[in-house]
Amino acid sequence: MIPSHFQFLPEIPADAILLKAIEGKRISKEEAILLYKEADFLKIQMVARYLREKVRPLSEASYTMFRVVNYTNYCNVECSFCSFMDEIGNGKGYVLSLDEILEKMDFAMEMGADQLFLQGGVYPELPFSYYTEIISGIKKRFPSMHIRAFSPVEIINLETITKRPLRDVLIELKSIGLDSVPGAGAEILTERMREIISPKKASVTEWVRAMETCHEVGLPGSANVVFGSEETQEEVIEHLQVIRDLQDRTGGFLSFIPWTFQPQTKRFKIRSVPTHEYLKVLGICRIFFDNIAHMETSVMVLGKGVGQLALLSGADDISSVVIEENVLRSFGLKSEKEAQKFLKEGGFTPVRRNLLYENVEMPVLT
Ligand code: SF4
Repeated sequence: MIPSHFQFLPEIPADAILLKAIEGKRISKEEAILLYKEADFLKIQMVARYLREKVRPLSEASYTMFRVVNYTNYCNVECSFCSFMDEIGNGKGYVLSLDEILEKMDFAMEMGADQLFLQGGVYPELPFSYYTEIISGIKKRFPSMHIRAFSPVEIINLETITKRPLRDVLIELKSIGLDSVPGAGAEILTERMREIISPKKASVTEWVRAMETCHEVGLPGSANVVFGSEETQEEVIEHLQVIRDLQDRTGGFLSFIPWTFQPQTKRFKIRSVPTHEYLKVLGICRIFFDNIAHMETSVMVLGKGVGQLALLSGADDISSVVIEENVLRSFGLKSEKEAQKFLKEGGFTPVRRNLLYENVEMPVLT
């Protein structure tokens, strides 16, 4: 319910848009831009909270348990914000063997994780057999483990190195155990921002083609927006429009995650995003995406305080406990017990879910 002291006046343009959202009507790109520029943050928060309750009771919030494994840090894409990559051939980077990945997953299982999030740099010298051997090897050792792997830019690399149709490559990976894909590497899906962030990364059209093909072959996943650089407000909403249009066609996105760029390199200009702006964008995402059920907040990137507020501003999930993360500065929750405590302290009943957003049994940790 929206508290009665929040009055929405139809004669105020931003209020009229929020009233439309309350009535369950889709808002346009132009209306979302107007909300970003003019709407009262608290009113957006109230409407986002109201819409969140249609997906999950406000008394509940979910989390999941996966381990991130970055199989290689060699990469030829050179995103300007990235401090994780090593230049191919410099002898300082790494490529994990199947045994090393399995060892990491043994540790993850001990920590209560039953899912793997596998991502790495773009390394064209790695043969396709490396990828098939690690996916089938992991599945052989852990048959019930959910494997989410390969962002669009990695997927396009697999298409290039195999010289086969993308669809065939994905069908083969799915047949040996790939379960879903991260919609990562999107950042801001406008060509102007891609030139600034990473001219060598998949273009908007290529990113969409990769994700659309994944969804078509039955590999669902998530999507995100990363802001807090030189993007305009219009470009943030343009990005959301690209994702919403794709979701209308495929229905393959199970969740959406807005987050902010973190300071990693001097080559990339970032700005400090105020908490109220992050929460405003999160709320706009909840309102704009009438076709994506779940909004996640990243405690790992944004911290616990913002995470609590986010759960009252449209988000219904805190993603995973961090068992390994090489790419980003981490404020993350380090154990399942800590995740449950964090949610309870915020007034939420914790719900454990899997990467397909199905509720799963949750251990009682005291
Ligand atoms: S963000 Fe990913 S694709 Fe970009 S340089 Fe880093 S490892 Fe490569």
